[in-house]
Amino acid sequence: MAKQFVVFGLGRFGGSMVKEFYELGAEVMAIDKNENKVSEYSKYATHAVVANAIDETTLKQLGIRNFDHAFVSFGDNIEASILTSLLLKDLGVSKVWAKAQSNYHQKVLEKIGVDRVIHPERDMAKRIAHHIASEKMIDYIELSEDYSMVELIATSKIHNRTLAELDVRARYGCTVVGIQRGREINASPNADEVIKKEDILLIIGHNAEIARFEAHGL
Ligand code: ADP
Repeated sequence: MAKQFVVFGLGRFGGSMVKEFYELGAEVMAIDKNENKVSEYSKYATHAVVANAIDETTLKQLGIRNFDHAFVSFGDNIEASILTSLLLKDLGVSKVWAKAQSNYHQKVLEKIGVDRVIHPERDMAKRIAHHIASEKMIDYIELSEDYSMVELIATSKIHNRTLAELDVRARYGCTVVGIQRGREINASPNADEVIKKEDILLIIGHNAEIARFEAHGL
């Protein structure tokens, strides 16, 4: 059976998620206490409901425990975000993700067992800062506190060398998982793949390993 999603809070973030699920053809219930928001998103959601999420009885009546994945995106309403996330975990929703407004908010959400905390402004700021600070890094995605996936420009130092010659994993610890050449991405490059001018390397690894490769390998 297809996964069932529920999004709480139809602000900029939650609303965009509902639209995206709609585009993907996924079933999604959209919930907000604001009637206008609910009618705005009713054309994208499988069900759109006006409800106050901090009311446990309402959550039970809506059968929320049967959903596979819940997203809580309440903007400034930190108290409601914490309470709703707690209720969802208590009801037994297997995956609860929530958007945090601050580090303090994030800590509380993690303490109550939220499966993943999303901090879009901070994460985007980090990505942009990494990109601007390094002329070799095109993009940066944080996978956990210590691990990332990055896109690095192949500098002239490694042009016409094969992946086997570079031996990135043995020398630096991180792994080249793909090579982007123009619009094409080779997602399983062989050891004899030759790096060309303007190639972009997709690398996954510990932040310290990536930093060493960026500084000394390129
Ligand atoms: P974001 O920055 O996450 O996109 P916004 O501040 O734009 O957030 O919107 C948050 C939405 O969450 C609003 O539409 C608001 O009505 C809704 N909301 C806040 N508290 C509750 C609650 N207790 N129950 C349901 N919806 C809520």
